[in-house]
Amino acid sequence: MAEATQDGRYTVGVDLGGTNIAVAVVDDVYTVMAGQKVPTDPRDGAEAVADRIAEAVGEVVGQAGVRADSIRGVGVGAPGPLDPESGVVSFAPNLNWHNVPLKSMLESRLSVPTFVENDVNVGTLGELRLGAGKGAKQLIGVFVGTGIGGGMVLDGELYRGANFSAGEVGHMIVKTGGPRCGCGNRGCWEAVASRQAIVRRLVRAFRRGARGPLYKMTKGAPSKIRSRALSRAFLDGDPLVIREMKREAKYLGMGVANLINLFSPQMVILGGGVVEAMGDWLIKRVRRSTRRYALAHALEGVDIVASALGDDAGILGCAVLANGRLSQMAES
Ligand SMILES: [Zn+2]
Repeated sequence: MAEATQDGRYTVGVDLGGTNIAVAVVDDVYTVMAGQKVPTDPRDGAEAVADRIAEAVGEVVGQAGVRADSIRGVGVGAPGPLDPESGVVSFAPNLNWHNVPLKSMLESRLSVPTFVENDVNVGTLGELRLGAGKGAKQLIGVFVGTGIGGGMVLDGELYRGANFSAGEVGHMIVKTGGPRCGCGNRGCWEAVASRQAIVRRLVRAFRRGARGPLYKMTKGAPSKIRSRALSRAFLDGDPLVIREMKREAKYLGMGVANLINLFSPQMVILGGGVVEAMGDWLIKRVRRSTRRYALAHALEGVDIVASALGDDAGILGCAVLANGRLSQMAES
């Protein structure tokens, strides 16, 4: 582990999710010095969540053995559309937040420059600078978990769009009259291809009496059908899960093809729990399905790859975010 001496070398990454908050101290070569996860408990309200983040930051700084004044900035990945300049989270349904000024709430508690960015953008930024996307100019990160989120990189920088909502790829419609999505529409990409969508179809099959390794493992309880259980059942040869994963690859490829046709990226990086758990098999199938749906010309030379940073994409992306904004501030 790196020796903690020099001042101003460290940043803190905060990956704020609906269930957990991951916090870590990261040094200037992106080594994680110390980290921990605490529950978000969003029901206590935004002020309480900010208190918990501040407390967790204090703790990891202590664990890393660095002085508090050697932290040069804090990067936060938060859900929902947000304004990265003001650091106000406009809307985060899983936290029940509306217009929460997260940046100023944290700066008043931590007394360190704090930068807030959409969580999926942060993950994409991590992959761009440190992971599978190193050196790419045009890329799209797609993260498949409870929902499907996307981050877009244009000319080597995050593309946020006029309303900071660019990359809401989960709400592209891929199936007319398909299942209802959290956004109110039907047939959105995440309504057919997120983990939640997979779980919904599996639970329906269990209700009809389908059985197999996954059922044995989970007793059909939706909360137990996590990405890892899916991959274990898949490896056990569970026919139901194999069928679902083939369908998953088809839908993922369909959405990726839409993105490639629209955006002409050099690279599409696939990450998130489902992709990580299923690994190479899924990536290969998604490539095949993408070939079927994308325009041949748009697809030429496009790499479709798995995320390289995995779980750390968020935290490391937060550190990249903080360092990038700090050097922008120093230049201006
Ligand atoms: Zn939707």
